[in-house]
Amino acid sequence: MTRVILMGPPGSGKGTQASYIASLLQVNSISTGDLFRSNLSGGTELGLIAKEYMESGEYVPDDITIGMIMNWVMDPQNDSGFVLDGFPRTMRQAEELDSRLGHNKVDMVVFFDVAFNLLIERLTGRWICQACQRPYHHLFAPPDQEKICNSCGGDLYQREDDKLEVVENRLKIYRESTEPVLEYYSQTNKLQNLDASRSIEVVRGDLASLLKEKVS
Ligand code: AMP
Repeated sequence: MTRVILMGPPGSGKGTQASYIASLLQVNSISTGDLFRSNLSGGTELGLIAKEYMESGEYVPDDITIGMIMNWVMDPQNDSGFVLDGFPRTMRQAEELDSRLGHNKVDMVVFFDVAFNLLIERLTGRWICQACQRPYHHLFAPPDQEKICNSCGGDLYQREDDKLEVVENRLKIYRESTEPVLEYYSQTNKLQNLDASRSIEVVRGDLASLLKEKVS
């Protein structure tokens, strides 16, 4: 069984590593933020409900988020394991996950630890390709041509929730609602701290060693 949860503040790089970890473990990964965004661009009812929360940096209400993710978690194709990116983010979500899976069924919770001032710099400088979702950063990873994707030529855009006022609110909500979830997992001895302020490649190397050591 390989059930891994990626936790950390917005901008800590969970999303960048999620599919890599899933491919190492040969399981599927899911990102709640990506699911909400694809519902938003597809104009679904769920997307319309999520929109106002996401754009102001608030969490989408638990009932909606839990319903959406639990269907995926309990799908028989994920029986052998999964990587969750961005869920659980509230105590209710964590308790619901525990009760649906059965107690103590998560193998590892990786905490992506990054100082808040670096997160603000990362998030407010982030630009994403409209077409292929490749992320860029105006200082750390700029595109060759301004606002154009190197890979596919698509237009780059800034996420509404990467604007400074919204980023500050996202970090505040993270502190209030998600830090208690970290505390909850630290009591289960499943929590592994990772210094995620380093480069993508270095963090990736650490993750590979961690998974090799801890998850069979
Ligand atoms: P992310 O891409 O992970 O930063 O998520 C973007 C936005 O989606 C968040 O700011 C929330 O509005 C919403 N969201 C993602 N995951 C959750 C969750 N587990 N619970 C509630 N809202 C969420």
